[in-house]
Amino acid sequence: MNFTKFPRRNYLQGPTPIEAMPQLSKALGGDVNLFVKRDDLLPGAAGGNKTRKLEFCIADALENGADAIITCGAVQSNHCRLTASWSAKEGLECHLLLEERVKGSYNIEASGNNFLFELLNVRTTKVVEGGSDMMGEMEKKAEELKAAGKTPYIIPGGASNPIGATGYALCAEETMTQINEMRLKIDTIVVPSGSAGTHAGMIVGMTGINGNIPILGMNVSRTKEVQEEIVYKLAIETAERLEVKGGLDRSSVVCYGDYVGPGYSLPTDSMVEAVKLFAMNEAILLDPVYSGKTAAGLIDQVRKGTFAKGANVLFLHTGGSPALYSYLDTFRQ
Ligand SMILES: *Cc1c(COP(=O)(O)O)cnc(C)c1O
Repeated sequence: MNFTKFPRRNYLQGPTPIEAMPQLSKALGGDVNLFVKRDDLLPGAAGGNKTRKLEFCIADALENGADAIITCGAVQSNHCRLTASWSAKEGLECHLLLEERVKGSYNIEASGNNFLFELLNVRTTKVVEGGSDMMGEMEKKAEELKAAGKTPYIIPGGASNPIGATGYALCAEETMTQINEMRLKIDTIVVPSGSAGTHAGMIVGMTGINGNIPILGMNVSRTKEVQEEIVYKLAIETAERLEVKGGLDRSSVVCYGDYVGPGYSLPTDSMVEAVKLFAMNEAILLDPVYSGKTAAGLIDQVRKGTFAKGANVLFLHTGGSPALYSYLDTFRQ
């Protein structure tokens, strides 16, 4: 795939590491060999997956002459933290729209990402009710900024449009190059599936390089059926942008909806267990909303014997650990 035809900034410092997780593999019975790709170590304040997407989205904003970025997310959004982070580095204003998906969950004094928004010099924050028309709200903000003489640019939630998902198509290619060099045969890659840019991008990239490694998505907010349609639609649009030949097979989109629990960002026992197992066995910090629930799904599938004995499974760690600090009560119960 040719990524050079798109505007792109230089936010990566080379490939993120792929590490074996021998202690965790042993703790889970030793039948499956677990590996992790450390996208939690990507640059940008406190790291995480949105940096790969923003490398393309913010480049597009600059190409369009923007001097202000508007984006949206949940009240502890990692995407908002990283958008604020790269906006600061690029000398752009950052304006946030936060969706209170869980009623009463916004607290202006909260720690975690909420505190980091403040440190990263977010210019304005507006909190709206769960289920609000976020694009409509962002367009309103854009009109307001234009009237004040600014040139705003809207990045959708999670930077999950074909521009942002391009970053994860590139990640699939990066991963394949690494495992080829390591002589490491990976049988399945497990990724979180939220606003879907990560999952869709990985599928498109894997198809584009003819890698034939199944990508398994763990949902963090929706049912299997609904999420698969969202991922498929974005994957098709992204494949068109990247001119991936032959189209995408619908069967390459596989989501598990069993680990969401009561809803987006709401804790589950299996998430708490997963966060503890990764920390105590591998000294890797997950987060309660995304990587913790994805890891809970991975662990459950290992225990259920879904992967063949001796299989090598790669977990894509998308970051998010700052959110841990706003869930202390959940972990100390
Ligand atoms: C946004 C996010 C995800 C989900 O990625 P999507 O591309 O939105 O599906 C996973 N993990 C973390 C830590 C995130 O912030």
